[in-house]
Amino acid sequence: MNEPTTTRSTCPYCGVGCGVLVETRGGEISNVVGDPDHPANYGKLCSKGASLHHTTPRIVQLQSRLLQPMLRASKGAAPVATDWTTAQSKVVHAIAAAVHTHGANSVGVYASGQLLTEDYYVFNKFVKGLLGTNNLDTNSRLCMSSAVAGYKATLGADSVPTCYEDIDHAQCLLIAGSNMAYAHPVLYRRVEAARANNPNLKTIVIDPRRTDTALEADLHLAILPGTDVALFQGMLHVMLWEGWLDSAYIAAHTTGFDALKAQVRDMTPDLSAGICGISKADLATAAQWFAQSPASLSLYCQGLNQSADGTHKNAALINLHLATGQIGKAGAGPFSLTGQPNAMGGREVGGMANLLPAHRNLANPAHRAEVAAFWGVDAIAEKPGYTAVELFEAAADGALQVLWIACTNPAHSLPDQTTVRRALERTPTVIVQDAFKTIATAQYADILLPAATWGEKDGTVTNSERRISRQRAVLPPMGESRPDWQIVRDVGRELETLLRPNAASLFNFDTPESIWLEHRALTAGTDCDITGLSYAQLEAAPQQWPYAAGASQATPRLFTDGVFSTPTGKAQFYTAKFKPLAEAVNVRHPIALNTGRLRDQWHGASRTALNAQSFAHAPAPTIDMHPDDMARRSLASGDLVQLTSKRGAIVMPVQASNTLRSGQAFAAMHWGSEWLPAGHGVNALSLPTFDAASKQPELKHAAIRVQAANLAYHLHAFAWLPVEQAYAVHESLCALLKPLAFASVLRVASTHSPNTLGVVIRAADHEAFATPLLNAIRALLDLEASMGLAQYADPRNHHLRLLSIAGDALSAVLLTGNAQACAAAAWLQPLWQQGASVKALGSGVLKPSATVPQGAPIASPTVCSCVGVSQAAIEAGVAATPAGSEVLPHLQSTLKCGTQCGSCLPQIKQMIGKTSRVGA
Ligand code: SF4
Repeated sequence: MNEPTTTRSTCPYCGVGCGVLVETRGGEISNVVGDPDHPANYGKLCSKGASLHHTTPRIVQLQSRLLQPMLRASKGAAPVATDWTTAQSKVVHAIAAAVHTHGANSVGVYASGQLLTEDYYVFNKFVKGLLGTNNLDTNSRLCMSSAVAGYKATLGADSVPTCYEDIDHAQCLLIAGSNMAYAHPVLYRRVEAARANNPNLKTIVIDPRRTDTALEADLHLAILPGTDVALFQGMLHVMLWEGWLDSAYIAAHTTGFDALKAQVRDMTPDLSAGICGISKADLATAAQWFAQSPASLSLYCQGLNQSADGTHKNAALINLHLATGQIGKAGAGPFSLTGQPNAMGGREVGGMANLLPAHRNLANPAHRAEVAAFWGVDAIAEKPGYTAVELFEAAADGALQVLWIACTNPAHSLPDQTTVRRALERTPTVIVQDAFKTIATAQYADILLPAATWGEKDGTVTNSERRISRQRAVLPPMGESRPDWQIVRDVGRELETLLRPNAASLFNFDTPESIWLEHRALTAGTDCDITGLSYAQLEAAPQQWPYAAGASQATPRLFTDGVFSTPTGKAQFYTAKFKPLAEAVNVRHPIALNTGRLRDQWHGASRTALNAQSFAHAPAPTIDMHPDDMARRSLASGDLVQLTSKRGAIVMPVQASNTLRSGQAFAAMHWGSEWLPAGHGVNALSLPTFDAASKQPELKHAAIRVQAANLAYHLHAFAWLPVEQAYAVHESLCALLKPLAFASVLRVASTHSPNTLGVVIRAADHEAFATPLLNAIRALLDLEASMGLAQYADPRNHHLRLLSIAGDALSAVLLTGNAQACAAAAWLQPLWQQGASVKALGSGVLKPSATVPQGAPIASPTVCSCVGVSQAAIEAGVAATPAGSEVLPHLQSTLKCGTQCGSCLPQIKQMIGKTSRVGA
């Protein structure tokens, strides 16, 4: 075995931007650990980052990666492999024909906050420099555009004023619309450490749900969905009334306060608390803690951003910072947490429909002229491009000839999937450039271009605190895949011979560094000036911007002098009326659906789910509802329910949850049609209505109806399969089960055999399952007739029970029939999953009863994914802790749970708290 090589890089998931040390051995990534020298994480990683190497084994990648260019002869046809020359020529001629016949605006590009800065730069130059349209937008529009609009409207620039170190200095932390414990776990570890180091630190969490983050707060304001602005205005009213504002700061460094004061006068504590559904006392406490703390830091994310009033929500929070002087000093200021790893880098290069490089504005003629001159093109088009939702709505209306999608999965992540899918079906040429062939969007591609992915790509990313880090290639691109920048460059070079013959090439890039140097030159004199940085410096250590030529160090904190990026140098208070949700609940759609993140999955889960252990904490899609709402509908946990909004419907299992108020529901945003193939996933329900300034859609709320699905025929199946087949089988099963009323296909890691992987199906329909379908499932799950097969069949009632037994344990199970006949799945699945012996059960193993046979293991979700410790084991460990002992240390020493990445610690502490024996 070769000696391992270790390379510094950056985690590709969330905007915390943790540094990683990637170990490679024998042509594989053999381990990933936190980089102790990276200032974003100082060696820590969450469960997602720490398991990156479990997503990269060749055996897994071979089944999930797009490894060569492919073409579809017609929509819906099977894709056929081709070579790069042919695929590239198809792309070039489709775009050239569209530009010549329909104009440049008939071409649209939808890219990603997961692209590297260098990829983004080349895409931006391709669209705005070569094509002459501004139809380039990215999935960052779904993530951070309201945060950007909020900063611009108040501070004058897209500049996050704070840094991670501020968490250590804060005396009051206000966490709004963010379940940091799940979505930004390593930063949440820093919050935990700050709390441990400073007993006086107050934490306020604003979230309609009682999340793990909210449960640990000193004050949880469980506001009603969409009422954030009323809360912030109510807090400001209290601060005004109590004289807690910083009048000197307001006078010296801001404008527009009188108008805001007049506005919030009407938002009395009674009114504010009433709108938000909280007590006046809690409102007053939050206002006092925030205003009177020596340093108040707010951390916020999609709860504010993904809203039809997102700009105002962001700006109303920034108003609080400006009015109390809680900005521009250590431990104070507004801090938007970036969702994606490089949403900020994309904005630095201007990779959005309304932006130009280095934070220049497309609407500014001088900025357009500067960029055109720099690039050597005649002009930059004046008309803003379509933003994300607009782009797909235009395509659905037939306005586009070519839609090029890179490194993102709009058939999963965009709201209103019916429209999105119509857009993908209607656009004559859909190009999908991606690393993974398994994404839902790939099914709509006319041309598939294989892209390199994390571990194979070289470039830079910028995290939430403006810190630029290097991402490095440690392996060559798999198959025929290529780095994204190279794909666009090569298409650009061929296309420019048709669109601007004899002109100098716009794409003289041979390395990521050559692109970065051009980007760097464009930042000179702007608020994100990095002319003082070099690739070599970034190789040595990540750096924050701005870092202008001549600077000797980075700038961790902005606006410390009270001078803002507005024309007057003063920050601008934002004044607007509170607006209710874009889609109110009503009699027909009485439940407010909230969407969000799970702890161990990330976005569309195309990478995290390659590690089957990522399903252990939340093994299946569910819609969480308050028990009272379920009782009113005669629903029990596990029942299938039909969720209906004005835009679409899906069927999912329901689960009782006390983390929500009555009238609300929650579904994780990860569950797309890759896991729920009989429909378009959770975003079938969501709302495309967007904020007028930021154009970010209201993904956080939709009014829905929930009712029993009443499906007569059910199917449960689970099987251990060789790892080298399991991912491909998953894909085949999804295709097979698509026509049903409900289907979920999930994966389970094996605790007893490293070479096998579990595939779990649950399906239901109005009609009995057809024999060819059942035969196809049996073939895929290796449930063909064999010596070890126990079976019971009652064809008249469509009952079938097939159990494949290897040794003493179940290797595969298929149950069909009505709900009662399939009830045994509840105890058979844990038996199968744990590899437990079924010998003692004898023929009882074939019984349909829901009653768990004596001695059979019970299903218990995993809490600690790193060590594999279940909820049941922790509960037993808590009960067994000797009197007088600290519970958490006892659990950590006996079960080892919570000793690795720490992502499970909030949940373990809650479980301990429930027993009133809170440990250290
Ligand atoms: Fe990656 Fe987790 Fe760090 Fe986010 S917090 S960058 S997902 S390791």
